[in-house]
Amino acid sequence: MRYVGRFAPSPTGPLHAGSLVAALASWLDARSHHGQWLLRIEDVDTPRCVPGADAIIVQQLNALGLTPDASPVYQSQRGDLYQAALDTLIAKNLAYPCACTRADIAQANADRGMTRSRHGELIYPGTCRPENGGLHGRQARAWRLRVPQGAAAQWHWHDRRLGAQTQALDQAVGDFVIRRADGLWAYQLAVVVDDAAQHVTHVVRGEDLTDNTPRQQWLQQCLGLPPLVYLHTPLVLDAHGEKLSKQSGAHPIDITRPLDELHQAGQVLGITLNASTVEHWLERASLAWGDLNPLMRGGKLFP
Ligand code: GLU
Repeated sequence: MRYVGRFAPSPTGPLHAGSLVAALASWLDARSHHGQWLLRIEDVDTPRCVPGADAIIVQQLNALGLTPDASPVYQSQRGDLYQAALDTLIAKNLAYPCACTRADIAQANADRGMTRSRHGELIYPGTCRPENGGLHGRQARAWRLRVPQGAAAQWHWHDRRLGAQTQALDQAVGDFVIRRADGLWAYQLAVVVDDAAQHVTHVVRGEDLTDNTPRQQWLQQCLGLPPLVYLHTPLVLDAHGEKLSKQSGAHPIDITRPLDELHQAGQVLGITLNASTVEHWLERASLAWGDLNPLMRGGKLFP
């Protein structure tokens, strides 16, 4: 089987115990499939990026023996690819410009008695859809992608670990932003374009990204790109039960103790083993991961 996997960190800070789990899982999955493992620095959201964080991430991965099979690519250098994808979507009448501010969207939703939001993100009511009158004479800010409506919006997909998943794209998300009002490319568009451009076949990433998958699969369909296989890994929680994150001050992993770090991340993935060197640990962990694979294919939780 042809296998290309990737780890795609946003350089907003060094890797911590949570992001290491995603990195390790994607590396192990690529190795146990005898595939390629790529590193992509997702630095499109420039205001959130921390200068130098990319170099630290590369150094941390190297210290743990997680070396990519090619030089890393940087999303900040790939604007032409994203523009070409946007042009395709516009030509297919799937993308449209939007003039609404957050306040406009909140007001339009309130007028319709719609108070739902997705993780604080408002569900777009379709105000600027061309059939609803377009920009209404206002200045375009962002570009949005249409999502299917009604029965076609019921999105069913499979996650190797979480099993069968469903999301109503129209009610849970709505037409979503692919180019932001500040001119930056949205994560959803960049990730889909790059996975295809890098010939990625398997996505292994943190469970916090699970509910982005239907949007990304829809975008793949709109752009005529091949489907991918998904596996979302368990999150590491802090003492308050919150997802460990750079924002909440998670400690960078300690590269002077690579075996301890691998051991800890491995445990989150259901891998417990002893080894005297990083190389030995990774070799044994790849075999253990291969043994877990059939369990995952059926959509069972890690042990
Ligand atoms: N850049 C995203 C993050 O750091 C991950 C994107 C992905 O793996 O699809 O959360």
